[in-house]
Amino acid sequence: MNPYYNIDDLLKYGNQALDLIGETYQNLEKERVVPDVEPGFLRQLLPENPPQKGESFEDILNDTKTKILPNLTQWQHPNFYAYFPCNMSSAAIIGDMISLAFNSPGFTWIASPATTELENIVADWIVKMMNLPEKFLLKNSGGGAILASIGISIFYSIHAGKYRKMKELGIDLTDPKSLKFVGYYTSLSHSENQRGLLVKDIPYRRAVPVHWNEKIKNFSIDVQEFREMVEKDISDGLIPFWCGATIGTTPCGSVDPIPEIAEVCKKYGMWLNVDAAWAGGAFVVPELRQEYGAGLEEVDSLTINFAKGTMSGNGSALFFVGDKKVYNESLGGKINPEYLKNKFTEENDITDYKDWQLGLGKRFNSLRLWFVIRKYGVEGLQKNILDKIELTKYFESLVTKSDKFTLVCKRSLNLICFRMIKDKDGNIIPEDKLNEFNRKLLELINLSGHYYLVGSEINGLYFLRFTPGNHNTLNQHIDALWKHIEECALKL
Ligand code: PLP
Repeated sequence: MNPYYNIDDLLKYGNQALDLIGETYQNLEKERVVPDVEPGFLRQLLPENPPQKGESFEDILNDTKTKILPNLTQWQHPNFYAYFPCNMSSAAIIGDMISLAFNSPGFTWIASPATTELENIVADWIVKMMNLPEKFLLKNSGGGAILASIGISIFYSIHAGKYRKMKELGIDLTDPKSLKFVGYYTSLSHSENQRGLLVKDIPYRRAVPVHWNEKIKNFSIDVQEFREMVEKDISDGLIPFWCGATIGTTPCGSVDPIPEIAEVCKKYGMWLNVDAAWAGGAFVVPELRQEYGAGLEEVDSLTINFAKGTMSGNGSALFFVGDKKVYNESLGGKINPEYLKNKFTEENDITDYKDWQLGLGKRFNSLRLWFVIRKYGVEGLQKNILDKIELTKYFESLVTKSDKFTLVCKRSLNLICFRMIKDKDGNIIPEDKLNEFNRKLLELINLSGHYYLVGSEINGLYFLRFTPGNHNTLNQHIDALWKHIEECALKL
C-alpha cells in the first residue's frame, strides 16, 4: 500500500488521534492552564536532528501526548481568561480535518471550484447573519474573503487605501507626493495597525490619543481632536489616506465612534478600516449588532475574526471590502501567467482568490466555517456569545460586590477590566502605588499556572482583564477564581 497515503494507517491512527484529542479535552481541567516550563525545554525533550528513517505513528502520537500537549498553554481550559477567547468546537475540528485531507488550494476558480464557491457563500452568509451592509455581498460592489489573520487584513486595507489615494491624485510611487502619506489609528487600536503602516513604509503615522469618556464609561478618542490632527497635517502638506478604527479594542473593549470617524474620513478622502476582530462575533446577536456596530455602512473595509470567540479556529479572519474592484486592482489586478490562464476566469465573472491576497495557495478555511455555521446555526452562534456574556456578568457582580476591587470601565461584551483599590487591611491604596499593587496581584494570580489572566495599561493606568470564552467554564470556576484572587490580594 502507498506508504504516504496508507488508508489503513489513516483510519487506525486518525482514530487514535481523535481519541487523544477527546481525552485531552475531557481531562483539561486537571491540567495547568500555563505549563511549568522554561524557554528551550522542548529542545531537551526532542532529538537534535530529524530521524533518518521514518518512525511509527505510535511513537509520534506518544510523544505528542507526553511532550507536546502537556506543554501547550491551554486556551480551551475553563480557567483561561487571558487575551481574547479562541474557543474551538467539534464542528471546526471535523471541518478542518476534511479540508486538510484534500489540500486543494483554490487560487483560481478552476483550481478548485468548490473551494472558491464555498468561500463566496460563507462570506455572504456571514454578511446576512450579522446584518452587515449589503455592499459587502459579493453580488454587489464588495465582497469578503477568509484570510489568515486580522493583521494581514489590516495591512491589505492600508495597501488598498494607498492605492486608491494615488489613483485619485493621478500619481505613482516615483512622485514625491507619495512620501507625504499619513495614516491614523486610534491609540487603543491593536498594534497590528501600527505595524501595518510601518511595513507598508508609510512615512507619517499618527496615534490619535484616547481620554476617559464619562458618557460611555470607557476610553475614547475625541473626534474633534482627530479632525484637528488631520487638518494640521493637511496644512503641513501631508496627505491623509487611511484610518484604522476598532470595535472592541484589545486593552479595554472600547468601541471607537465609527459614524463620526467615518465622517472625517469621507471629508478628507481616507480609507476607513474597522477592526472588529473580537467584538465582531457578537454581531450575530441583533441587539449587540445594533449596540456595537453603528456606522458600518460608511466603512471601506471591515475585519472580523471567527477564531476569537466564534469557535472556528485560526485562519478564520473575515475581510470585507466595500469596493472589490479597487481592492483587486490594488493587488495588481488580474495577473495571469500562462499556467493560471483558463477559460472560466476569462469568460465569467468569478472570484479568483489569488486576486484577494499575496500568495497563490490558501487553506480551505471556508469548509471549517461552513461546518461551524451549519452545525450550530445562527441560534447556536448567538447562544455561544450570550452564554459567555452571562458568565462575564457573574464575574462583574463579584467585583462590584467587593469594596476592595473596582471596575475600571464599563463591561464590554465578555470583557471586564478591574483593579484592586484597597489593601488587605481595608486601607485605600495610594494612587502612586496602585499600578504596582495590581501588577503584583496579577503575578500572584498567575503564579500557580492554574489560572491565566493578563493585564493592560491605558494612559498610565494599569489594570487586570478578565474574559471567559470557553464552553466548559461555569459559574463555579468563576467562584473559584474569585476566591483565588481574594486570597492573592491578602498576600499583598
Ligand atoms: N485586532 C484586535 C482588536 C485583536 O483583539 C487582535 C488580537 O487579539 C488582533 C487585531 C490581532 O489579530 P490577528 O492575530 O488575527 O492578527
